Amino acid sequence: MRSQTTVINAVTGSHSASHSGAPDTEVVIIGAGPYGLSAAAHLRAAGVDVRVFGRPMQFWAEKMPAGMLLRSPRVASNLSSPSSSGTLEAYEATAGLSAKSPLPLETFVDYGQWFQRQFIPNLDYREVVAVEVVESGFRSVLADETAIYSKRVVVAAGIGPFQRIPQEFRSLPDSVVTHCYSGFDVHGYSGRRVIVIGAGQSALESAALLHEAGAEVQIIAKISTLRWIGQHPWLHHLGPISSMLYSSHDVGPAGISRLVASPNLMRHIPLPWRDKIRVRAVRPAGSRWLPARLKDVAIKTSHFAKEARLVGSQVQLKLDDGSVSSADHVLLGTGYSVDISRYAFLTPGLIERVQLMDGYPALQSGFRSSHPGLHFLGATAARSFGPLLYFVAGAEFASSALCSEILKNKAVPR
Ligand SMILES: Cc1cc2nc3c(=O)[nH]c(=O)nc-3n(C[C@H](O)[C@H](O)[C@H](O)COP(=O)(O)OP(=O)(O)OC[C@H]3O[C@@H](n4cnc5c(N)ncnc54)[C@H](O)[C@@H]3O)c2cc1C
Repeated sequence: MRSQTTVINAVTGSHSASHSGAPDTEVVIIGAGPYGLSAAAHLRAAGVDVRVFGRPMQFWAEKMPAGMLLRSPRVASNLSSPSSSGTLEAYEATAGLSAKSPLPLETFVDYGQWFQRQFIPNLDYREVVAVEVVESGFRSVLADETAIYSKRVVVAAGIGPFQRIPQEFRSLPDSVVTHCYSGFDVHGYSGRRVIVIGAGQSALESAALLHEAGAEVQIIAKISTLRWIGQHPWLHHLGPISSMLYSSHDVGPAGISRLVASPNLMRHIPLPWRDKIRVRAVRPAGSRWLPARLKDVAIKTSHFAKEARLVGSQVQLKLDDGSVSSADHVLLGTGYSVDISRYAFLTPGLIERVQLMDGYPALQSGFRSSHPGLHFLGATAARSFGPLLYFVAGAEFASSALCSEILKNKAVPR
């Protein structure tokens, strides 16, 4: 097998699309977050030749506000390794840390980077800028124009490009409007007026962090009453009955939580039902530790911005009831919409070959897309396998399903 990579001109694309020589590697994984790292750990342990690209835990390290706490319980915040030596607890024991709940962001990032050093020591930090189909499989082009040929590509690239920006904010500059998912330094807003739009975890937690950093914060939410996760704590303390209602991942309400914990079962539920379950399981809500931290924050529910404009250095919002709110900055906690055509590295020719369901790839067992050898993990798989795939907890199922699929069809991707 050829071991060195092939350098070509990525800009002109002066390569052979009919490349049919031996690939450089069996599997290329794009993204070194919880899903990419977990999948790579399983594949390497099974003896599959895999190369992983991206900076370890980059999204968590760079796009989440400092001071954030994970909303997922500790047990659902493990990356997946083929042995128990890769757990959060194993990391904490090695690092001499006491187990904290909720889990601080900084610990989770350090854990993920430790996991990477244990299981994927040969991680390649380079960004993948283009993936296209060649006769022998795929050609992935890196930022320095190196091309890597592989039989399979696994897209584990997260939700970065999927930020949902409401129309009324699109013409305003980044200096006054940012999305929660683009990363921000809460201390930079001390003494400034910030409007946070949204009612989900990132909006509400960002509002709490901004308030604690000395910003004057107002939350504007469309829903009539903010919701909090775990509003019925007694339901979690009924012993075996609670276990029948909730899985340890704690994604979704009683009953639904159990269904969601079985992605293989979710995949066989008719799409309209699956969509209903998915939407219900991840409806906007904040963690139970947030209400106390938001008690001094102005909250306006049942309203939304109809217009947003720049007046001097201020953003002025006209709300649906005709009232006006102004601030130095607007932070959008407006969620994200999966649309794989927004992954800039997927060439249009490749996207055309993937059967889509409103931007999500339609996936089969083993996280296979309709194009042979192309797999998607993480949030992009949630329409096929259910909402567990939006969370770190889904990495365990995804990694072992992907690994079995690849081992089963090692010779020819189907
Ligand atoms: C504010 C917020 C809070 C959240 N809290 C939780 C929580 O508490 N618990 C939980 O389970 N989930 C939480 N989530 C969801 C979380 O995003 C996912 O659980 C998790 O990140 C999924 O892992 P991933 O590997 O799919 O994606 P990511 O963690 O986003 O990793 C993908 C990586 O791929 C890299 N990448 C992208 N494109 C390329 C490229 N072309 N080349 C190389 N690398 C590339 C990115 O830089 C990124 O680091 C939260 C999300 C947000 C936004």
